[in-house]
Amino acid sequence: MRVYSIPMRTRFRGITRREGVLIQGPAGWGEFSPFAEYGPGECARWLAAAREAAHDGWPAPLRETIPVNVTIPAVDPERAHEMTRVSGCRTAKVKVAERGIDPARSDAEDLARVEAVRDALGPDGRVRVDVNGAWDVDRAARMIRRLDRFDLEYVEQPCATLEELARVRRLVDVPVAADESIRRAEDPLKVRAAGAADIAVLKVQPLGGVRAALRVAEQTGLPVVVSSAVETSVGLAAGLALAAALPELPYACGLATLSLLEGDVVVDPLVPVDGRIPVRRPEPDPGALRRYEAGADEGAGWRRRVADAQALMDAPPVIAVTRGVMP
Ligand SMILES: [Mg+2]
Repeated sequence: MRVYSIPMRTRFRGITRREGVLIQGPAGWGEFSPFAEYGPGECARWLAAAREAAHDGWPAPLRETIPVNVTIPAVDPERAHEMTRVSGCRTAKVKVAERGIDPARSDAEDLARVEAVRDALGPDGRVRVDVNGAWDVDRAARMIRRLDRFDLEYVEQPCATLEELARVRRLVDVPVAADESIRRAEDPLKVRAAGAADIAVLKVQPLGGVRAALRVAEQTGLPVVVSSAVETSVGLAAGLALAAALPELPYACGLATLSLLEGDVVVDPLVPVDGRIPVRRPEPDPGALRRYEAGADEGAGWRRRVADAQALMDAPPVIAVTRGVMP
């Protein structure tokens, strides 16, 4: 078990370093990297995903490469154009509705950013926007209609609640994807029952592993976009395994997130080439593990999180860790 700490290139979810645990087992390496705000109950599912990777491995892939999107943060139009162009991706996800700025200014900037991205991709590229739940229903309906001038593939989590998503979905023609509304295995079924989305964004760690996510995908019956939890290549490999095992994969996936990190724990990172990431599973490199080894305090904190999560799992221990005892 190794604890890593890698600086972020850009601040994301308010964090400046990405930290987590890498666990080696008979089937390979698994990643356990829940964000700081998650308690032991949620962490147990994240740990189940690491356990599956290390002990069981993943179902056989049905495809060799996975199409991925470039993510364009809330940057000015020139920068958005440049980032899209150099990415090599044919699908872009544009972050909109940046929090903390005046809505009228935000809406104008969002329109300019999406226009620049559409221009960079040309008419054949696909443009989706991610709102992270920031709009109310009226603003969502108004903005989606305005942004659809640039031909939107879908709009991700336009509002916070399922009821709002369902209302937006009835007001606009652009498909709605649920992301934040899906963090637990039971959530996608609620999304479907509420008529709240056309597409489900699924992440391996919060759902408890590749097989658990495949079951969720089957139960919802919705097309799936696989996204990362901003992991190292060890965690991203699990996302690729899920995307590779889905019977249908109609959309590019959100797995091109390694560029958010300053480094990686492998020497051959899972980054896109011409908008696709090959389905493979790189091994951590001893030198990289040393370079990004977390400090003693962080390491002790992560061992406690593993022990607490493990205590809630109805499975044999992933690794021998006792609360409060340093291995
Ligand atoms: Mg999202």
